[in-house]
Amino acid sequence: MAIERPQPTGIGLFGGTFDPVHIGHLRTALELKNALHLAEMRLVPSAHPPHRAQPEVSAEHRLAMLTCGVDAEPGLVVDERELRRESPSYTLDTLAEIRAEIGPDAPLCLCIGMDSLVNLNQWHRWQELVDYAHIVVAARPGWHLPKSGEVLEFVHRHRAHDVAELKTTPTGKVLIVEMTLLPISATGIRQALQRGESIRYLVPDGVIDYINQNQLY
Ligand code: ATP
Repeated sequence: MAIERPQPTGIGLFGGTFDPVHIGHLRTALELKNALHLAEMRLVPSAHPPHRAQPEVSAEHRLAMLTCGVDAEPGLVVDERELRRESPSYTLDTLAEIRAEIGPDAPLCLCIGMDSLVNLNQWHRWQELVDYAHIVVAARPGWHLPKSGEVLEFVHRHRAHDVAELKTTPTGKVLIVEMTLLPISATGIRQALQRGESIRYLVPDGVIDYINQNQLY
């Protein structure tokens, strides 16, 4: 007799500048999709990230590389909405828009790294993020939370202890998922390209071809 497995439910969001996308992003997005048992993981490139240096290449190139990197993987989808917005890429606006589109009941998971969680209180209206979505934090083994402060209090107030808890409600939880993250960064890739070094096996082959054809970085 075939064992019936529950259908994946909910949508994950994985934002970034993707300047360029690399296999650290793609592998983590896919692993989170599976671990959280989501129907879909959306990769959301940001246009004018408010918290960091502006990207080195245009939104059009970053989008083209991301689309090429995701390729035919059915679980990963590129969501272009922040590139179409004129104003800064506030995550809260993105969550509110997607929530309005999917209705009130589907779980929505905003996936961020522990480095982002630590600075979450610098995000626009950060305490309201959990009104629209869960926050899932991908953390390397050995991770630790801030020792004190409002982010720690926020995590304690909303903390979920397993994935099942995220399925009981569409919003409002913070889950920390321990994962081995590949030691790759877009900064390292840009530096390698500037030194004339190969980035093979760090970035999908199609993205390397795109970088070469368009003489990026
Ligand atoms: P940069 O080096 O330019 O800061 P980055 O490689 O960190 O870029 P971003 O586009 O800024 O990439 O990050 C998008 C998201 O991907 C962030 O949530 C970040 O924490 C996460 N991320 C970055 N590198 C990795 C990696 N190696 N494994 C898993 N997640 C990653």
